[in-house]
Amino acid sequence: MHPHSLLPRHSDAVAGASLERETLRRVWQFAQPYRTTIGIFLGAILVSALVAIVPPFVFRAILDSAIPDGDRALVWWLALVAVIAALAEAALAIVQRWGSARVGEGLIYDLRVALFNKVQRMPIAFFTRTQTGSLISRLNNDVIGAQSAVTSTLGTAVSNVVILLTTVTAMIALEWRLTLLSLVVLPAFIIPARRVGKRLQTIAAKQMDLNAQMNTQMQERFNVSGALLVKLFGRHRDEVEAFSGRAAGVRDSGVLAAMYGRVFFVALGLVGALGAVAVYGIGAQLVVSGDITAGTLVALAALVSRVYMPLTALSNARVELLTSFVSFDRVFEVLDAPTSIVDRAGAYDLVQPRGRIDIDHVTFRYPPAAEVSIASLEAPGAPTGDPDHDVLSDITLTIESGETVAIVGPSGSGKSTLAALIPRLYDVTSGSIRLDGNDLRDLTIDSIHAAIGVVSQDPHLFHESIESNLRYARPDATHDDIVAACQGARIHDTIAALPDGYRTVVGERGYRFSGGEKQRLAIARLLLKNPVVMILDEATSHLDNESESLVQAALDEAMRGRTSVVIAHRLSTITNADRIVVVENGQIVEQGKHHDLMARDGAYARQVRAGGLFAST
Ligand code: ADP
Repeated sequence: MHPHSLLPRHSDAVAGASLERETLRRVWQFAQPYRTTIGIFLGAILVSALVAIVPPFVFRAILDSAIPDGDRALVWWLALVAVIAALAEAALAIVQRWGSARVGEGLIYDLRVALFNKVQRMPIAFFTRTQTGSLISRLNNDVIGAQSAVTSTLGTAVSNVVILLTTVTAMIALEWRLTLLSLVVLPAFIIPARRVGKRLQTIAAKQMDLNAQMNTQMQERFNVSGALLVKLFGRHRDEVEAFSGRAAGVRDSGVLAAMYGRVFFVALGLVGALGAVAVYGIGAQLVVSGDITAGTLVALAALVSRVYMPLTALSNARVELLTSFVSFDRVFEVLDAPTSIVDRAGAYDLVQPRGRIDIDHVTFRYPPAAEVSIASLEAPGAPTGDPDHDVLSDITLTIESGETVAIVGPSGSGKSTLAALIPRLYDVTSGSIRLDGNDLRDLTIDSIHAAIGVVSQDPHLFHESIESNLRYARPDATHDDIVAACQGARIHDTIAALPDGYRTVVGERGYRFSGGEKQRLAIARLLLKNPVVMILDEATSHLDNESESLVQAALDEAMRGRTSVVIAHRLSTITNADRIVVVENGQIVEQGKHHDLMARDGAYARQVRAGGLFAST
């Protein structure tokens, strides 16, 4: 393959870059476990470069000693040496490949697992701001780019330097004048080669860009909602046009890259051929005048062909190395991102939780981007946490163990934000939240999440069987446990009626649950997990009467014996709650029972009368 076809993705970033000491140090840290293999790899390169200069010397000995002396035995011995050298070179080539594959694949594995682990531990704020596609590309492309710094780039650089040094040394040892002669043509060749390399790099970068755009377009159009949009707005023709424009760009730069690459190779071959002609032409004169032997001439000609290739490869090595290091930097950028919500030193488990929640003078504003996300991964329309805007201010609320609290208030008043603080999806800006008297920040996050279950408005299900989706909550649940939970959540009959029952696959290419069914499945999942605290964001959309009563029954089951915080949209949930908390503009403005609040004729009564509170009554 052409050495440049694998090149450069991030050429813009490379242009002004230099190798940072810190990056190098960390790359070395990642390479540490492989130092023995890297040693073997580099050793194999070195030895094979030495072995490769044996054959030209054998040829010289055959021509200069064996033939003139008519020594047949010596010819056989020399031939044997050449065969051994060839075998050794072949074996060393395999050792090299083994080494680079071991190190390369190993590094890809290490970096991927480290990234996956890191991303999983990022706060939820990170995911609300991040472009998933770019993040995935870090785990796919950048990881591969980064490992190539260690394997292909380092390997190429070392092997070319070694080949060059050994070959030139051998040539000088043979005949220094001819060596100088064969090297004077080099600058005339290297300078244009560098230009071609740069040009190829720009083309490759442009191609990557267009490819990424094509991918995005496909991803966004090839799903049900995207396809629907295209159809309903009759934009099919424009979509094809935009797509074909990008595809044409890829095609044209592909042709251009192929041509540049070929011209480069042809020129390389030409210089090699001309170099050989020069060596033979001028060398032959020296042979005639008796200055050198015919054997020396043949050996030199064989060696000279080994000089040009490494030199051109090395002339582009710096750019290649910088390019791979940009990938490393992009990987490190993710690995170094702040994980704000983690167990503090000395955090302890919450044992036997009872589910009492104290929200104590809590003020909250969404953290600014710099604290939670990575600028280069930000989605274009990411929500901007306004640093001067408190989403919640001075909220104090105690929820007793087993109590059901309905939170109501106009859209945007801060209900979901308040609900997100209880399982510590965000940390409070000031004040504190305590679970059974323990500050959330003192508890292990795992034990908080074991104690608190959340059912969101549009619960997520994985593209797997219903059973494994449910088991996600409790991997050791038996089938009977699962059936019991689904009966409790009033979804068992629906599942049992499916041809594949609990083995039915959920999602785009499987069974599509309706909104009400999804929420009941999520409730079943929660029942399996059996937390002491339940946080529920009730669906705002209308459910038909049957779903409505099923969801209600499922909820009653879920709330029984649990502390429940419900962002309520349905009158029945609100009136059944032990307490209604009315939130407006990030503050609690009223709390009490439905009738008391109606009688008081305050914010709650106003909202009820305006009809803004309920999704369905
Ligand atoms: P509700 O649930 O009552 O509709 P929210 O808690 O969702 O209200 O939102 C309260 C306020 O916080 C709104 O002004 C909203 O724009 C803002 N907000 C919500 N989520 C984020 C976020 N991830 N980053 C920044 N601001 C947000």
